[in-house]
Amino acid sequence: MASLPVLAESSVAERSALDDSNEPGAPQDWRWQARHAIRDLEGLERAIVLTEAERAGVRRSLADGFPMSITPHYLGLIDPHDPSCPIRRQAVPTIDEAHEVPGDLRDPLGEEAHEVAPELVQRYPDRVLLLATDRCAMYCRFCTRSRMVGDGGGARALDKLEPAFRYIESHPEIHDVIVSGGDPLVMATSRITPILGRLANIEHVLTVRVATRAPVTIPQRITDELCRALRTHPAVWVMTHFNHPKELAPEATEALARLVDHGLPVMNQTVLLRGINDDPDTLEALFRGLVRRRVRPYYLLQADPVRGTGHLRTPIATGLRIMERLQGRLSGIALPKYIVDTPGGRGKVPVLPDTVVRRSDGVTTLRTFRGEEVDYVDPPTAAPTAAAPSTEPTKSR
Ligand code: SF4
Repeated sequence: MASLPVLAESSVAERSALDDSNEPGAPQDWRWQARHAIRDLEGLERAIVLTEAERAGVRRSLADGFPMSITPHYLGLIDPHDPSCPIRRQAVPTIDEAHEVPGDLRDPLGEEAHEVAPELVQRYPDRVLLLATDRCAMYCRFCTRSRMVGDGGGARALDKLEPAFRYIESHPEIHDVIVSGGDPLVMATSRITPILGRLANIEHVLTVRVATRAPVTIPQRITDELCRALRTHPAVWVMTHFNHPKELAPEATEALARLVDHGLPVMNQTVLLRGINDDPDTLEALFRGLVRRRVRPYYLLQADPVRGTGHLRTPIATGLRIMERLQGRLSGIALPKYIVDTPGGRGKVPVLPDTVVRRSDGVTTLRTFRGEEVDYVDPPTAAPTAAAPSTEPTKSR
């Protein structure tokens, strides 16, 4: 494990902040990691040389409701002397979060407007999002749900989720349930199993996607016991969220291997973040590293316009330039789709570099990854008539 910075003592309130506080006392244990997460300025000052902007950001975060929490594991990946460290910028608040820019939204994906039952969001006919908890091991500074994560509700009790289950039951067109939060995998296994079991009993639910940053922020959580519990539903997919190659630490590698070795398909979503991963070399290293660990890079997501995250977002043109550079450098299994989740919850839109140069009658001119222009000639629109048997010898190509 990366060397541990000096740790803050946690208060009684901090101890109860995650779901399961019955922890043994070793850094290799996830409950120890959760209990020792840094959640106050004094603890962070002991581990990192803070800038004034960070210090003010932490104070504001503690006062304003989108909390800070950094596990010892994630803290061990942070450069304590470099404020531009890509790991640090994801975890440590800065006063930039106080600045709103045009387009910022409190609820960028319109999840509140699309709530169909308590803790259940439906934005597409065939799938729903179940918010099982508001807790995370770490609070990512760009979080789409910063309006609600860490708000004090904790893991949702099964009876509170019952209206959501009933809604799913009464809608046979729903085939896919995304269990998210918060981070569902920081709940105790005893809370995860009944949720998956309940969904397994709904015949038309064919897949369950568990969205989690635990392999990144608290990889010790990925135990054999948890992996076995995830198999409660026959078709659970694990959706991880690695944003930078530095996050592929030995502990994370072990966590991913454990998931895959238990037969769980693992896909990764990366958020494009300014000054953190917005260059082709960083993303190439990340995507190659994921594939090597048997994880499929699935989406590169344009950062949602969450209030106070303008300093972390890039223009869409940056994402398109990166995708253009990666096309041809990475094989299909390593190249994710670049996606914009449209503000207001109107759905995801894949965005592609412009590779069609022109279209004319039956001919499309395409630009390859080398910049060459190549014509593709369409077949005739009328079906070719069967040719009369030829008496001529056939020419080989
Ligand atoms: S782990 Fe996910 S839900 Fe939690 S703060 Fe990070 S991005 Fe948000």
